[in-house]
Amino acid sequence: MRAWSYTLLADEVLTLDAGETRYSPGAVAIEGDAIGYVGPPPREPGGTVIRLDGCVLLPGLVDVHTHTPMWLFRGLTEDVPRGEWLEGRMRPLEALVGPRELRAGALAGCLELLTSGVTTIADRYSDMGAVAGVVEESGLRAVVAHSLYDRDAERGLEETEALLERFGVDPARSRVWAGLGPHATDSCGPELLRRVAELAERSGARVFIHLAQAEGEVAAVRARGDAGCAMYLDELGLLGPTVVVAHGTYLTDGEADLVGRRGTAVAHCPSSNAKLEGRVAPVGRMRRAGAVVGLGTDAACCNNGMELFAEMRTAGLLNKVAADDPAAFPAADLLRMATTEAAAALGIGHLVGSLETGKRADLIAVDRRAPHLLPWHDPVANLVYAARGSDVSAVFVDGRPLVLDRRPVRLDAERILADATQAARTLAPLAVGR
Ligand SMILES: [Zn+2]
Repeated sequence: MRAWSYTLLADEVLTLDAGETRYSPGAVAIEGDAIGYVGPPPREPGGTVIRLDGCVLLPGLVDVHTHTPMWLFRGLTEDVPRGEWLEGRMRPLEALVGPRELRAGALAGCLELLTSGVTTIADRYSDMGAVAGVVEESGLRAVVAHSLYDRDAERGLEETEALLERFGVDPARSRVWAGLGPHATDSCGPELLRRVAELAERSGARVFIHLAQAEGEVAAVRARGDAGCAMYLDELGLLGPTVVVAHGTYLTDGEADLVGRRGTAVAHCPSSNAKLEGRVAPVGRMRRAGAVVGLGTDAACCNNGMELFAEMRTAGLLNKVAADDPAAFPAADLLRMATTEAAAALGIGHLVGSLETGKRADLIAVDRRAPHLLPWHDPVANLVYAARGSDVSAVFVDGRPLVLDRRPVRLDAERILADATQAARTLAPLAVGR
């Protein structure tokens, strides 16, 4: 008998392996931080047995674009005219908060993500040195990147080097690892991006950048003499499988094809794009051309929450409308974009994203005994179009239970929410346009 830490028994296991294997009923045994067994319930389950009656087990969700500290700003930037959101509304708010508030907001953001079934995030923000420790403390798996800007390039690169030193770049060695986070194609000129490309080459870190997220960004890049945001990145060698571009909202068809042809990873944040820009990014086109697409919630003030179940549903609805085709973006693809394909976008497809022996034990249980989830004819369609983050009853990361019976195990939710709410309290009267 192997030395299991836990055996999880559930009504159903959705492995999302290459063969779409399902077990009903099913079991997953955890050995340390890894999955030791997936299959029908064993005759003699080992370790601590956790019965997840009424639940379906599936891989933990992978959210490829978050800004956890911006939890603080939820509800303060509503219905803003196109082009005003970032500089006109967000920046003045961000100027009001210090590292203590950011940490409080980030921990609340991590709590929101974890309790709704997200087990991996790609988190980026300014002052990431202050925030990364909180992300680590939350128990989430995470790649963290400090946002780099021309206006503060030297300090930003120092902060980035410190993150690389502190966390390394190898997700197989560390649950939290570091990436490079140039902010966007307008706020980062060629000199800074060349240094980022060199640092990526030297360190092996992945690059995370916002791409064509606003009309002003496109205009600024063109004013600099480049044909478009994607062409600009391509000239610098910054399109490809180790680069994760977020949004791509204003890419031309030609640029979308170029992003795809390079095999670039794309963070698709449909609800954020819809709410802040009134647009659907050409993600179908990028994906058809070869892009690896993961779903991202973006920040809590963009959409207005970090809930990947909602994002799967929104991605399906908006992309069907954009394609003028109800058969576009089938549910199975959407679930992949929140699990296996999202993991591949972050370069961790060999570690997480599906439930297979030897992979890290990142998994969630969804309680399907709810009026909105029955009958259970089609598990994938139900998970994509009917399930909610609040249906998640258990969450494991690296084999450690972080949520059981819908309650966080290691985090003190009451204290975290009290601290973060207090940190956010002073902001409302000072928000522009309220
Ligand atoms: Zn973003």
